[in-house]
Amino acid sequence: MSDEPEEQRNMKRMTWQAENCLACVYFHPNDVLNADLLERGMCTHPKMTPFELVVSGRDWCNLYKEMPQKTIDALQEHASKS
Ligand code: SF4
Repeated sequence: MSDEPEEQRNMKRMTWQAENCLACVYFHPNDVLNADLLERGMCTHPKMTPFELVVSGRDWCNLYKEMPQKTIDALQEHASKS
């Protein structure tokens, strides 16, 4: 068993990668703290919301917009508090 707090261990499981839904600003995973390439979530791009599109972290489309690191940090911090 690690001496690290559970919160820090959970943060290490999150793998944000470039050029796929996981790193897209429009991807809203079900589990923010444990999101990985297999995580599913809603695509919230305005052109996609009428379709209620569910994607996985490894998907991609040409509407991709990279999520800024500060947004990732804010999402992780918010999720770790809840
Ligand atoms: S489907 Fe496209 S717009 Fe939606 S989250 Fe994935 S890359 Fe982003």
